[in-house]
Amino acid sequence: TVAVAPTPNVAERPSFKSRYDHFIDGEWVAPSSGEYFDSISPIDGKPFTQAARGNARDIDKAIDAALKAFETWGKTAAAYRSNLLLKIAQIVEDNLDYLATVECIDNGKAIRETRAADLPLVVDHFRYFAGVIRSEEGSMSEHDETTVSINLHEPIGIVGQIIPWNFPLLMAAWKIAPALAAGCCVVVKPAEQTPTGIMVLMELIGHVLPKGVLNVVTGFGVEAGKPLASSPRVNKVAFTGETTTGRLIMQYASENLIPVTMELGGKSPNIFFESVMDADDEFLDKAVEGAVMFALNQGEVCTCPSRILVHEHIYDAFIKRVVERTKAIKLGNPLDPTVMMGAQASDDQYQKILSYLDIGKQEGAEVLAGGEAFKQNGGLENGYYIQPTLLKGNNKMRVFQEEIFGPVSCVTTFKTTEEAIAIANDSLYGLGAGVWTRDAHELYQVPRAIQAGRVWVNCYHAYPAHAPFGGYKKSGFGRETHKMMLNHYRQTKNMLISY
Ligand code: NAD
Repeated sequence: TVAVAPTPNVAERPSFKSRYDHFIDGEWVAPSSGEYFDSISPIDGKPFTQAARGNARDIDKAIDAALKAFETWGKTAAAYRSNLLLKIAQIVEDNLDYLATVECIDNGKAIRETRAADLPLVVDHFRYFAGVIRSEEGSMSEHDETTVSINLHEPIGIVGQIIPWNFPLLMAAWKIAPALAAGCCVVVKPAEQTPTGIMVLMELIGHVLPKGVLNVVTGFGVEAGKPLASSPRVNKVAFTGETTTGRLIMQYASENLIPVTMELGGKSPNIFFESVMDADDEFLDKAVEGAVMFALNQGEVCTCPSRILVHEHIYDAFIKRVVERTKAIKLGNPLDPTVMMGAQASDDQYQKILSYLDIGKQEGAEVLAGGEAFKQNGGLENGYYIQPTLLKGNNKMRVFQEEIFGPVSCVTTFKTTEEAIAIANDSLYGLGAGVWTRDAHELYQVPRAIQAGRVWVNCYHAYPAHAPFGGYKKSGFGRETHKMMLNHYRQTKNMLISY
């Protein structure tokens, strides 16, 4: 059974416009098709506003605006851009509660997380890149006796950014902040499942930047995303989404020989070694919390620790605690600040997760916790709620190999460190991993052996702006966050001057 959250004390719903146009060249622009589509809140499965249905003509308008703006924005001083990024960060911080509520309604995620994590990380990310570009000032040249070598980092130009629905505002910030910091002009295409949060953000920050520097066109993947990624006038594409979509975007971009960064899917292992059970209570509690991180953001996290690997000697004792903790997760209306897990982001995603629960059962996986949809009442009957679920099985099963992108983690055991590493690496993906141990050798050697772009050791799901993030294998390439991200949005010109 899953504890049912009380409904009082829910955050007040902000009032939304009846529909949102595109944001192009500093103006709100109606879609050239004249069409809008419903933005549905996963909380109750009901439309709460509409978004403009963008197409190639709208994308072209946005690229026109970006190109015009780039003539001046691309030549601005780092200090100028830095100050504008700081202004954006301040506006987001001043409106944090409001944006956190909007994000919750748009995506279905728990407001306690949007307030404590998503929005503060958005703020920090803008501040971080504002600082990074100031720190580079005055450090562009190297000398010897007869030559001066000057490296100029020039903005790459017009950037198309295609955003997923799982962290709509944070994923947008991860891409927008470094691109603007580098001096690029941007056209963003949010996910069709969550088009509203970023338009509300543009209502707040749209006036801060010169016209055309940041444009947002809402719409569907093939109708709006494809023309953006295929345009010969775009100089770089940054994409976060599914591995299969990533492949298509690379094909489009290859026609124009432009660089892409790909943040794709994952099937992250979370490994618990024997020493976890010998540790003090504080560490053990932390490890149990680390195991239930699979339910964070309803499991809709690319680094969701969706495979739990436990040493066979501690399996019974450790999993007993994890199951108890999983069953205590408070599910309910995500606008209630005491709720830990809200609704899945869309009906499609909800159905996909339920179908994987069936697949797991058919494959013979044992349901240790959850395993079903979660029926809400009080007007939320049509929302997309699923119980946090633990399935026990083996790494050959589809539920261990395929990305479910829901609150489901698959549990298995291992006998030796080598076996744990082999299971962890037996995946197409290589995005995140967790290692929990008190043993100094495992603490260093296991992360070294794991094929993943981010390995958390004795922690999980931390995303500081200064730590590079990205995938190995089919989880993508290129990095987000960290100052190295700037160079995905710049090209280097070397001037070698002899005197
Ligand atoms: P998706 O690939 O379906 O959609 C992502 C975006 O691509 C949306 O904006 C969509 O409209 C657009 N799109 C779809 N088809 C397109 C096409 N043919 N041309 C251009 N654009 C197109 O992915 P999703 O379901 O929205 O997101 C979930 C996926 O994202 C998961 O696989 C998850 O692991 C991944 N993800 C990865 C990271 C990371 O940093 N690695 C972060 C978050 C999510």
